[in-house]
Formats: sequence, C-alpha cells, structure tokens
Amino acid sequence: MTLNIRFAPSPTGYLHEGHLLSALYVWAMAKLKNYPVHLRIEDHDQSRARNEYIDAIYEDLEWFGFEWDSKSKQSNRHEIYEQALYKLEKQHLIYGCDCSRKSLSLENPSSSDGEIIYQRHCLNKDLKITPPNTTRLIVESSPVQWNDLKLGPFTENPAVQCGDFALRDRLGQWTYQFAVCVDDIEENIGMIVRGEDLRSSTARQIFLMSLLGKKTPPHYFHHSLLYDPLTGLKLSKRQHSQSLRAEKMKGLSREVLLGQICFKLHLIEKEVPMTLNESIFLFSKQIEGYLQ
Ligand code: GLU
Ligand code: ZN
Repeated sequence: MTLNIRFAPSPTGYLHEGHLLSALYVWAMAKLKNYPVHLRIEDHDQSRARNEYIDAIYEDLEWFGFEWDSKSKQSNRHEIYEQALYKLEKQHLIYGCDCSRKSLSLENPSSSDGEIIYQRHCLNKDLKITPPNTTRLIVESSPVQWNDLKLGPFTENPAVQCGDFALRDRLGQWTYQFAVCVDDIEENIGMIVRGEDLRSSTARQIFLMSLLGKKTPPHYFHHSLLYDPLTGLKLSKRQHSQSLRAEKMKGLSREVLLGQICFKLHLIEKEVPMTLNESIFLFSKQIEGYLQ
C-alpha cells in the first residue's frame, strides 16, 4: 500500500502565510520522497468550522498551483471514528468524565504551556461515555520515543504531559487528537510534516495510534513557524493574521507571495518573485539538509 503525506488545514478561518509555509514543506517533502499528497479538511470542531472556509482552502491552494492526489473531510467520517472508539472501549481503555470546564482548570495542575494535566477525577465513577459526558482515554505512564527528522530525538510521557486526554467532547465532537490519529492510520500517512507548535502532541498521538493497532508510527518533521514581526507572536487565525486572499485582493501575485516566504526563510538572497516549482525546489533542498 502506498504511504501518503498529508496537508491538514482546519477550516476555521482563511489560510494565511503560516499555512503557505506548511504547504510548501509538505509538497517539498512529497517531491523528495515521491509520496502522494493527501489533503485532509480537519473540520472535527463543528462549532468553529465553516463551509465557506473549506471552499476557500481549495480555492487558495489551487490559486498557488498546489495539486493533491486524494482528499478527505473529517465531518464525513463519523462512523470510522465510532468504530475506532469502540475498539478502545472493548479494551476497557476509555471512560466518561463529567467535570465542568471550570472544575477541570481548578482541580488539575497544568503544564508549562498551560495544558491541563487531568488527574483522573472520574476514572472510577463509572459514568456513561456519551454526551453530555466527555470521553477520556486511559493513558498509562510510559515514555514514548521518536526521532523527529528536523528536531532530533525526543522522549516524552503523555501521562505527565496531559494525563487521560479527551477523545470526544461533551457536545459529542471528536477531538483533534483522536480524529487525527484515526485519520493518519486510515489514510496510511507515512510522514507527518507540520509546524513545531504541534510537536508536543506527537507522543500522545504515537501512544494512541499504537492502541488503535498501528505499531510503527509515521515519520515526523516539525518545521519552525513564522512570527509576526510586530507582535512577536506566531501567525495564526486567532490573531487575525493577514489571509492569503486578502494579500491577493491587494493585487499581490502568488509569485510575489512565494518570493516573500522564500526570502524570510533565507532560501534566496534578494526578495524576488518565485514560481511554485522554484519554491518547492528550494524547500526540498532545505529539507534534504536535515535528512542527511
Ligand atoms: N489541523 C491542524 C492545523 O491546522 C493540523 C493538524 C496536524 O497537522 O496534525 O493546525
Ligand atoms: Zn472528570
């Protein structure tokens, strides 16, 4: 079976420069490794996802000239997630939790990046796993090791990082952590290229994938992020970073936008327009440097 590489944007806003950066890394890695690209629309959070943003993702990627070999949308995959959850239920690995958001933050310690480390308050309460309860995974304490192709070796223990994390929330929505693991298995993803901000999710995802039957995890390459020169914060939709389509409306060509990003990464010495193929080539040269 072919191994795929994926680009997995969440349709909770318009794509911005940070997405373009990720896409370039994904397509460059795909070119280097000769892997097909799978485009996954991560609309697991139905309260934030919008169809308008899904259409815009396709349009913006097409405008740049990115081509993908297959695609999927999480909101179409409810049964697949149900089946995966059932697999865990049969192994007695999940339980219901009725802690409120407030009690979660009051009664549990948090990690340095503000993430709650759940203290198993509801483990023995025998609560239903269905909404309005949250469904949690029993996370055994054991170190997970992996070798990031960009950042080097890591050993992290998800029990220490976050504890029994949620697979489905109180509204019945699949969480990012759960949906992404089921999808990465089902869609046969052999290589995960994404931003460094998701690196801390890797250990728990490798752990969950192993419970779902995937004993050999994918390879990981976590690229560095772009920061807003004014605020110093990473680019994100929540901070209303300039969308790619807003740049386009201002009259900037895709070649100019690609040139800007290549220049920011010091892949070219002067800020000049670049084609998509030229940009992908430069990104793949940079990646190659890390793979040696
Ligand atoms: N949907 C996530 C995002 O837009 C990416 C998830 C992943 O690559 O694992 O940030
Ligand atoms: Zn609880």
